[in-house]
Amino acid sequence: MRERKRRKVMMEKVMVIGAGQMGSGIAQVCAQAGYHVLLNDLKEDFIERGLGIINKNLSRQVEKGRMNEEQKDQVLSNITASTTLNDASNVDIVIEAAVENMKVKTNIFAELDKIAPQHTILASNTSSLPITEIAAATNRPDQVIGMHFMNPVPVMKLVEIIRGLATADEVYKKIEEMTKTLNKIPVEVNDFPGFVSNRVLMPMINEAIYTLYEGVASKEAIDEVMKLGMNHPMGPLTLADFIGLDTCLYIMETLHEGFGDDKYRPCPLLRKYVKAGWLGRKAGRGFYEYN
Ligand code: NAD
Repeated sequence: MRERKRRKVMMEKVMVIGAGQMGSGIAQVCAQAGYHVLLNDLKEDFIERGLGIINKNLSRQVEKGRMNEEQKDQVLSNITASTTLNDASNVDIVIEAAVENMKVKTNIFAELDKIAPQHTILASNTSSLPITEIAAATNRPDQVIGMHFMNPVPVMKLVEIIRGLATADEVYKKIEEMTKTLNKIPVEVNDFPGFVSNRVLMPMINEAIYTLYEGVASKEAIDEVMKLGMNHPMGPLTLADFIGLDTCLYIMETLHEGFGDDKYRPCPLLRKYVKAGWLGRKAGRGFYEYN
């Protein structure tokens, strides 16, 4: 298992908010790096679902011979369930991975600001929302930062680190260091809608949805063209299902509103699918159907 380098950054206790696909992955990689993790969600059931994903991921690692059962149990024992934000009273960093919605995030950050100790860094895994605006909901904007992990978290190396307008250099450095202890590669990005990753990726996905909407080709053909022609490991519609169509829609809305440019208008077909509850892989149905 990975060497424990966390002491170097003096951060021991991490709270992850949201036990969905991203939050569970973030909790897993933190626990694997030896941090004590509180995994928070609104209901016990949601945390159980998140822990189930982590368990499955770790079992796969055991099957592949990358860790043994004892190490797996050790990682799981580093994670504790939490259903109240009051648990932030004893952590060094909070990484928020709740739904991509500004109101939800600013409520969480305002609450955390009241509960968490002075030294605690408040990070958001938002895919596109302005860190500066999230930070403004607190009285510690210098200690608020974006920590944008990629999906699936245990596999993907990149973490975009986003500085808000007021983020302190010292906070940036701590997060950069912590990211390395997770065996990830930090890349510094400024605070603009969608940052770099989703400003480039999401309009391509949205355009693929327009291509389907306008009947240019079938979903399979669109994915095949981008896989075989552009060497993408996954077609854009498969990738949209994987990310979550609700998250894709939120990101397009953030780009549209943030830049005021119609080139970012979300495709009506994307809106329709989200309204139908076809949110992609996590809902069992999106552009494709999943068991
Ligand atoms: P998800 O729907 O799988 O999980 C969100 C979780 O947050 C749910 O379990 C929900 O119950 C919980 N939640 C909602 N409100 C909460 C609250 N007030 N307190 C505690 N928990 C709350 O979503 P996801 O895909 O894991 O996305 C989470 C965040 O990560 C979003 O901001 C998203 O933009 C970002 N993100 C997503 C991806 C991706 O590929 N899906 C990639 C990078 C970043």
